[in-house]
Amino acid sequence: MNTSDKLNEECGVFGVFFSDPKKDASSLVYYGLFSLQHRGQESAGIAALHENAIEYRKGMGLVGEVFTQEVISSLKGSAAIGHVRYSTSGGSCPENAQPFVSHFKLGSIAVAHNGTLTNADVVRELLEDAGVGFTSSSDSEVIINLIAKNYKKGLEKALTDTIKFIKGSYALTVLTEDALVGARDPNGIRPLCLGKLGSGHGPGGAAGWILASESCAIDAVGGEFVRDVEPGEVVIITKDDLLSFTFSEKTRRAVCSFEYVYFARPDSLIDSVDVYGARIRAGEILGRESAVSADLVIGVPDSGVPAAIGYGRATGTPYGLGIVKSKYVGRTFIAPDQGSRERAVSVKHNVIGSEVRGKRVVIIDDSIVRGTTSRRLVSILKTAGAKEVHMRICSPPVRFPCYFGIDTPHRKDLISNMNSVAELCASLGADSLAFISVEGLLESIDPGSSRSEYSGYCLGCFTGEYPIPVAGEDR
Ligand code: AMP
Repeated sequence: MNTSDKLNEECGVFGVFFSDPKKDASSLVYYGLFSLQHRGQESAGIAALHENAIEYRKGMGLVGEVFTQEVISSLKGSAAIGHVRYSTSGGSCPENAQPFVSHFKLGSIAVAHNGTLTNADVVRELLEDAGVGFTSSSDSEVIINLIAKNYKKGLEKALTDTIKFIKGSYALTVLTEDALVGARDPNGIRPLCLGKLGSGHGPGGAAGWILASESCAIDAVGGEFVRDVEPGEVVIITKDDLLSFTFSEKTRRAVCSFEYVYFARPDSLIDSVDVYGARIRAGEILGRESAVSADLVIGVPDSGVPAAIGYGRATGTPYGLGIVKSKYVGRTFIAPDQGSRERAVSVKHNVIGSEVRGKRVVIIDDSIVRGTTSRRLVSILKTAGAKEVHMRICSPPVRFPCYFGIDTPHRKDLISNMNSVAELCASLGADSLAFISVEGLLESIDPGSSRSEYSGYCLGCFTGEYPIPVAGEDR
């Protein structure tokens, strides 16, 4: 659990399997990871299967920093998996970079995991008592050690036994000496989808198959999106077959709603929902729920922009580009203290003064967590001459920690947990502030859905109601 006050996002996984042993999967995984870089910028890694042996490279940094052309060319393999990481469980250090690779008596496997296990400590202790050694503090190593321990029962049984034991959120890619496996937790909290590559002699008449956290990565390597991996489903791809089964009888879809709000790329489809469309609808709904008379609506790049377009359409407010974001500043969340976070935010966003001067401006962002970004934006807009600044947020107030893959700060640092909307508005220095309602957010993702335990989405960080029981909150 995070004891610093940083909030990190989750990870991205990507896997490719070619039936033809001469094909090169590693370079496709490399490009796939580039498209998933927004899901994790701390470490990157690729494990590849070449002539029945699994080799890997991983390290701290961006995909382009960890993998030179030379490294990629040396990582040959007709099947490969890759991972980009932000720490959500375990610290930020090279030992926790993924994929994890295990060479054991019966063979070798590699695992890349997006999500957080809620019972990792218990499983780890049981494994340690049974003499299993760990090299990292990551919960994902628990998964690979469980699979390795059960491997003598055969791959399918090893997977089902492992998966029945672990609790929490997981989208997994597993590479064995003859298969690529994808699995998604029974609630499908983290996304995972299946794609195919060209036509050939492999299973399903395809030349190759892809597993990816987001469909944008399938597009990036020229693949064709096939479908989402279902909650509680395991997909096993081998040279001759694509086998799928459901390992859990109790599946209840509870996809992370924050994927649509912030994490996912707008050109991705997550569980059949087009992320861009969901963000546009969120803006339209905000416009219906909390319109204000204004001369201009602007969005905070990147995820606030579609919502600003939607708000403009719904209210008739002219849409413009008022904020420019530097593409080269890392995520402000990972700065170690408030001072450096504020400096990073200052470098990250700037105002187009000529666009906002003298105007009543509505500014839309995806979320407020600590309030650092919003406070700064209100201040720079006012300094640039905006007459009024009205903040609109296309997620409800973040009041509760996430236990399923987002490393939220302490509850006391969630500004909406400590303040009413009016207090928050005053502390940001805005002329008005409004958040989308929980019902509005659901409607934006899945028009027609209603707020209930079975809405299909996890809203835990907004409502405190989680799809899986979580041990007593200590924050
Ligand atoms: P804050 O500045 O603490 O209020 O955080 C809100 C800002 O950070 C918004 O501009 C979001 O786009 C961005 N944000 C929201 N969630 C995350 C996250 N998990 N990781 C990094 N940035 C985020």
